Amino acid sequence: MADLETFRAEARAWLEANCPPEMRQPLKPGESLVWGGRREKFAAPGSKLWLERMVAKGWTVPTWPKEYGGAGLSKAEARVLQQEMRALGCRPALTSFGMTMLAPVVMEYGTPEQKAKFLPPIARGEIRWCQGYSEPGSGSDLASLQCAAVRDGDDYVVNGQKIWTSDAHHSDWIFCLVRTNKNGPKHDGISFLLFDMDQPGVKVSPIILISGASDFCQTFFDNVRVPVSHRIGQENAGWTIAKRLLQHEREMLSEGGGSYQARKKRTLAEWARESIGAGPGVLPDADLRDRIVRVEMEQLAYSASLRRSMESAKAGKGPGPETSMFKMVVSEMSKRRADLRVRIAGVQGLGWEGEGFDESDLEATRIWLASKAESIAGGTSEIQRNIIAKRVLGLPGD
Ligand SMILES: Cc1cc2nc3c(=O)[nH]c(=O)nc-3n(C[C@H](O)[C@H](O)[C@H](O)COP(=O)(O)OP(=O)(O)OC[C@H]3O[C@@H](n4cnc5c(N)ncnc54)[C@H](O)[C@@H]3O)c2cc1C
Repeated sequence: MADLETFRAEARAWLEANCPPEMRQPLKPGESLVWGGRREKFAAPGSKLWLERMVAKGWTVPTWPKEYGGAGLSKAEARVLQQEMRALGCRPALTSFGMTMLAPVVMEYGTPEQKAKFLPPIARGEIRWCQGYSEPGSGSDLASLQCAAVRDGDDYVVNGQKIWTSDAHHSDWIFCLVRTNKNGPKHDGISFLLFDMDQPGVKVSPIILISGASDFCQTFFDNVRVPVSHRIGQENAGWTIAKRLLQHEREMLSEGGGSYQARKKRTLAEWARESIGAGPGVLPDADLRDRIVRVEMEQLAYSASLRRSMESAKAGKGPGPETSMFKMVVSEMSKRRADLRVRIAGVQGLGWEGEGFDESDLEATRIWLASKAESIAGGTSEIQRNIIAKRVLGLPGD
């Protein structure tokens, strides 16, 4: 424990000396964290320097072995580091699907050569990855996917389409599920490939959303060549890896997602007092008080359960099917919370732009709308319930 306290003091001193003051400011509306990759613009001042310093320290991925760009910290040390970063308000220097989703499966299933090739650029934020899972007609029933890879010498030739590929237009490489065998059970003919998007035959087409923004893409592959050495795991055994990656994705979503809530958070009660103008005392509306308390209690109970589960998983088998419980609960909970916040704000919570709405009004509307997607991304709540029934509770399938 004394060692841990020594580490805490050292970490704090280093962060105080090295985290640029701008990187200790909450995110402004519309401002993004650093996702890395060849197209990263480092829009916020200090963000590049902050990334470079954290990379040099191995603290973008603190628990990874040093040979892959980490710092070899224990989980307990990494938690202390995270606490100290939160205490000082430091933004994460880097956030990425590479770190949270791909790297754990490369560590588990990759060859030594694949680990050496793919992990260090993820730790340094040099390559931004996107996820090529969903296809038109293969969302919840993911194993029915049709995007095909046919062997040609030392390459696969990939043809097909993906959809809802988040941020494909900003990404450099894709981790992609492909069909390598059309005969036999659908789960048994899938392989897991990694490839560079900057090559002939890859076309990315952003999907414009109602907001005018575009986070999603359709991604098309026309005779894209992928070296066989970029396949993780055995041919036709990609389903196991796909499911494992989803557990990591659901774990990441359960912990609050990549979307770092660095903006100053007001509690629902503070929000209600400000919006309704009741001053610092007790809110006069008993029904509203009751609803707020329920949502806040739910949040506390969730955080405590998540913490307990993380503590008991310290032995380190990695995430299991219980991640579906956390993912389902957190996404449904965030919808209720966002809904209540908009209700509290009344018409002020229904603005999209324009005068008459301040930043937090607009934020409330955006969070409310975005919350609707949370119970779909990473597998819908219905699918999580199916997994919980079968894999956690051991109930019979249909
Ligand atoms: C914000 C966001 C980001 C995303 N990012 C990515 C990404 O980067 N890469 C990627 O590959 N995909 C991504 N997706 C796609 C996502 O994984 C799929 O949308 C999701 O798996 C659901 O598939 P679907 O849209 O085809 O719906 P469907 O599978 O058509 O489902 C429609 C409805 O039917 C229900 N349903 C379907 N089957 C069952 C069943 N057996 N039992 C009970 N109910 C059922 C579903 O729960 C849902 O309510 C993203 C989605 C969102 C919203």
